[in-house]
Amino acid sequence: MSDKQFNCPQCGDHTEALHEGYCEACCTSNQAALDDHNFQHDRWARLSSTDRDAEIKRAHR
Ligand SMILES: [Zn+2]
Repeated sequence: MSDKQFNCPQCGDHTEALHEGYCEACCTSNQAALDDHNFQHDRWARLSSTDRDAEIKRAHR
């Protein structure tokens, strides 16, 4: 048993190497979520206030 084992704070699995503080699988999925978040953020920043109101109404339906 190696003592160089970490526990991923996200899924709790043992991992031999941490990537950005998480196991490889979580790091990959976090990165994908972050990319998606950035994409949504950029998209949101380009919307006019009218478009934003419409989006908010749609989201709260
Ligand atoms: Zn994990």
